[in-house]
Amino acid sequence: MTITETLAPAQTRGLVEITEVHKSFGALHVLRGVSLTVEPGAVTAILGPSGSGKSTLLRTINHLEKVDSGYVAIDGSLVGYKKRGNSLHELREKDILKQRTEIGMVFQNFNLFGHLTALENVVEAPVVAQGKTKAQARRRGLELLERVGLKDKAHAYPRQLSGGQQQRVAIARALALDPKILLFDEPTSALDPELVNEVLDVIRELATSGTTLIIVTHEMGFARDVADTVVFMDQGQIVESGTPAELFANPHEARTKAFFSKII
Ligand code: ADP
Ligand code: MG
Repeated sequence: MTITETLAPAQTRGLVEITEVHKSFGALHVLRGVSLTVEPGAVTAILGPSGSGKSTLLRTINHLEKVDSGYVAIDGSLVGYKKRGNSLHELREKDILKQRTEIGMVFQNFNLFGHLTALENVVEAPVVAQGKTKAQARRRGLELLERVGLKDKAHAYPRQLSGGQQQRVAIARALALDPKILLFDEPTSALDPELVNEVLDVIRELATSGTTLIIVTHEMGFARDVADTVVFMDQGQIVESGTPAELFANPHEARTKAFFSKII
């Protein structure tokens, strides 16, 4: 199935529908036929060894990586492409950016703008990408900083904040566009151990309030508590997936068992 043969599904089942996605970097075949459905409001945790393609998979969801074949759809719309007649055309940059506003992403290293305060970081995208007024965006930005427990740090610069606080600002920033889904790529991997929980608590609150989340993590306890579905990836494929209870207690595949025996 090449991308041009793949016509957008008339009706998709999930909020996110990833179908038979392949992606190579040169000779390296990084995603080898990945399919995944994420229902609205669901929390999906992706686990797997380093190099298995987890980040690349997340990046295909907002078209930071283009798939070689297969497709990704969000809420029934193809990511990065538009169907015209019987063929697919890549969206223009402007439309890709617009589509990306529906998908929030939080990275391992926070990626805040260092020259902007916490509040300015949160306000930037709604003003620039959604045409909100500064006053509207500031009001909402303060609410979001309060939600992540950082209202009192609104005027601090990233360098004045701990890693955990910076990551919470990054989460508020991702929420500011009211995305349909939030993607987290190892959001606590760069943090000192004592700062991990304050970030996980914020993500947990989002999960219980019905936000659709996909989270790549090595925090097994968190995945077990919070995820509706746990997906184990290895070598560019989804080896198996299930509820945390199924997957942690009773993994079927040898590769999954081997991974859990090392990490838990
Ligand atoms: P994970 O997040 O599971 O550790 P990644 O998706 O980051 O895995 O990477 C999967 C494989 O793809 C790795 O071998 C990595 O080196 C390679 N890779 C990722 N991005 C690129 C890129 N832009 N160019 C070349 N190789 C890449
Ligand atoms: Mg990664």
